[in-house]
Amino acid sequence: MLDRLNVFSPTGRKIKLLHYLLILLALTLPFTFSFPIDLLGFSISLFVYFLTGCIGITMTLHRCLTHQSFEFKYKWMERLGSYLGAIQGTGSPLTWVIVHWEHHKHADTEKDPHSPDKGLVFLKNDKYDSFKFNLLEYRHIIKDKFQVLLHQYYFLIILIHAAVMFSIFGMYGLYWGFILPSVIGITTSIINNTFAHSELGYKRYKQDNDSSNVWWVALLTFGEGWHNNHHAEPWDWNFSRAWYEIDITGSMIKFLLSSKLAIQGEKW
Ligand SMILES: [Zn+2]
Ligand SMILES: [Zn+2]
Repeated sequence: MLDRLNVFSPTGRKIKLLHYLLILLALTLPFTFSFPIDLLGFSISLFVYFLTGCIGITMTLHRCLTHQSFEFKYKWMERLGSYLGAIQGTGSPLTWVIVHWEHHKHADTEKDPHSPDKGLVFLKNDKYDSFKFNLLEYRHIIKDKFQVLLHQYYFLIILIHAAVMFSIFGMYGLYWGFILPSVIGITTSIINNTFAHSELGYKRYKQDNDSSNVWWVALLTFGEGWHNNHHAEPWDWNFSRAWYEIDITGSMIKFLLSSKLAIQGEKW
């Protein structure tokens, strides 16, 4: 299985094209609907961004699958979260996990897949193809056939998702339920990868990387902006270290743990 899997197939140029296309389509919004007055549409976008960004990317792909800081009690919860993370349009969960883990191992060095040392970090996927890493480290996700399916049919899944939104809700659903939330997700990923590794914010833990705690990034990304805390203790599902460091995802995981719908990770 490992040798037959092209880890970066759903990234590279194709995913960059997808991002450009989504951004271009989002720019036509003001000419299509009564933007920005359409409060219902905007609320739908924010809700979908919460599902894909918070439950999908932050909770499932990042804190569960990459760092294994907790496990969902039921496999279907992990799979639903992975699916939600996938349909945001920022790449397959498998690629996300590997790229992020490599980022932690090589943060702010030449080997970092998205170091902000050269300005804004657009999702530099074309760089990934040349990366060398040990796939055995990612056995826990690669052995799951569902994850491999999400990876190998990534663009088809995105296309089906967009088609379903269109067939049920028409252009309205396609724009507010898919295109805009995806563009919000792409933008906040760029913001997080750039400004949470910068001189903005504060550094609670002294480390040999530039990770920083930036409150407004945390607000936009459901807690991810407490990034210096996270790099210091990546096994911890809770990114907050003080009452004023609001970590929405961490609070939700705390709730799942207390209601026995999640299990603490092994490093605890
Ligand atoms: Zn980082
Ligand atoms: Zn991380």
